[in-house]
Amino acid sequence: MEKNVQEVKKGLLIIISGPAGVGKGVVCKGLIERNSNIKMSVSATTRQKRPREVEGISYFFKTPEEFSRMIESGEFLEYMYVFDSNYYGTPKAYVEEELESGTDIILEIDVNGAMRVKQIYPDAISIFIAPPDLGTLKSRLIGRGTETPEALERRFGAALSEISRIGEYDYIVINDVVDKAVGKIESILSAERSSVKRNKPLIDKLQKGCNQQ
Ligand code: 5GP
Repeated sequence: MEKNVQEVKKGLLIIISGPAGVGKGVVCKGLIERNSNIKMSVSATTRQKRPREVEGISYFFKTPEEFSRMIESGEFLEYMYVFDSNYYGTPKAYVEEELESGTDIILEIDVNGAMRVKQIYPDAISIFIAPPDLGTLKSRLIGRGTETPEALERRFGAALSEISRIGEYDYIVINDVVDKAVGKIESILSAERSSVKRNKPLIDKLQKGCNQQ
């Protein structure tokens, strides 16, 4: 029987970045709640667990020794030393298996990690979530109440440098109203799924049919 080309389509690799406090987490949550075919990749990190964070859902929390062992055994798609003394990394096996089986995967990672992933997977879709303005970002960061004043300053500085690199992304989505931001990302993904470059087998099949006419 002829293979249905739609059935063998790989999932989309979706990279979401944006400054701390911009609301990436809520936007990603909205996306996976509204779309059963989209899943989050769970990163590993050496940073301390925050209140309300859950092991295996927010992150896989690792000691520096455990993280080093994972680096040595090649378990990461990419990893990064972000802020202070914390490591963050994307476990490779889960992402590759899910993409192969047709699931769309979100990587919520920093700008450097995003660009590393884009080099490995040029077809990945990179989306930068931006605040409506810097004042809103600062008050959201303060409102979170999880950081020391020094850490807050450092994160705000990091936010400014991330914003200066928006030009390296494929798309920008302003997170003013969460539902609207989620809707915009859904539109981006829908357009990407219809792109010519992602539909080569379908096009080849159609064109083969044309030649037989
Ligand atoms: P947080 O400590 O606020 O959870 O995250 C700090 C930063 O690390 C965010 O910009 C987040 O997107 C980034 N991050 C989280 N996981 C990863 C990862 O696996 N790889 C990279 N490169 N960055 C990550």
